[in-house]
Amino acid sequence: TVLNLGSINIDIVFAVPHIPAPGETLSSTGREVFLGGKGTNMSVAIARAGGTVRHIGAVGPDGGWTVERLRAAGVDIGFIAELEEVTGQALIAVDADGENTIILYPGANRALRHDAVMAALAEAGPGDRLLLQNETNLQAEAAREAKALGLAVTYAAAPFDADAVKAVLPTLDMLFLNRVEAEQLTQATGQAPADLGVRDVVITLGADGCDWIGPGGVQHFDAVPVEPVDTTGAGDTFTGYTLAALERGLSMPAALELAGRAGALMVTRHGTSDVIPTLDEVRAFAG
Ligand code: ADP
Repeated sequence: TVLNLGSINIDIVFAVPHIPAPGETLSSTGREVFLGGKGTNMSVAIARAGGTVRHIGAVGPDGGWTVERLRAAGVDIGFIAELEEVTGQALIAVDADGENTIILYPGANRALRHDAVMAALAEAGPGDRLLLQNETNLQAEAAREAKALGLAVTYAAAPFDADAVKAVLPTLDMLFLNRVEAEQLTQATGQAPADLGVRDVVITLGADGCDWIGPGGVQHFDAVPVEPVDTTGAGDTFTGYTLAALERGLSMPAALELAGRAGALMVTRHGTSDVIPTLDEVRAFAG
């Protein structure tokens, strides 16, 4: 099982004729509400990829439908708390050219309670893995406890924050970075990814595929060529697919190959958690 300590967001997307200027009041021409957040995307990706995932997180009184959506996607929701804080929100304005501007309110995602997170970890069994991103509180505490319990710890360093990564780095078995995050981490630590002391580092490179820096050195995987229409959620889908594949017993190269196919299929679709592909769709995808 992957224990995913992650965010749950309500994404409210407003269609606007242009991105509003300071002081401007602008009417939106459309409004859509989606389930979002990096944590949510990864939990849904793991479940759709045939893995077992337990989400550790929190929503507010307004978040019942988000938890129901996760449950329907096959995610174990037993450790999602309901707090008084509102559910995390992303207010997204998208103009006619697809340009966007986003206001993120973390809400319940940054109000997780220490005892609840520790209780979730205490239920973990041998072979389980903790997955973290940088959209909740208690990342470092959870990582240390998981390490002490003998769990593998995986971190996706997004949204990038140097202090947040440094706090979990000593506990990590696996680290996912995109190209920009890899550069930021190299700057922040003064060390190349291979020298961080993390057994497996995966650097995703968009249309250029990914590099795996593992015990055997660096291995490159080409992307599947596609016409991208919306790249949101590609990295989250890729990470979720990799972990689910490893859980199902695939080798790291086979897992990364499958994850690359899932990421490529994902960028051919508009949307985020709702359109993360299933394993059957990825297998059927010729690319
Ligand atoms: P992030 O969304 O975190 O920035 P990337 O853009 O690196 O992550 O995408 C993650 C993975 O998704 C890539 O390693 C690749 O396998 C796949 N992917 C992303 N963009 C494309 C693309 N344009 N064509 C094919 N595959 C892609």
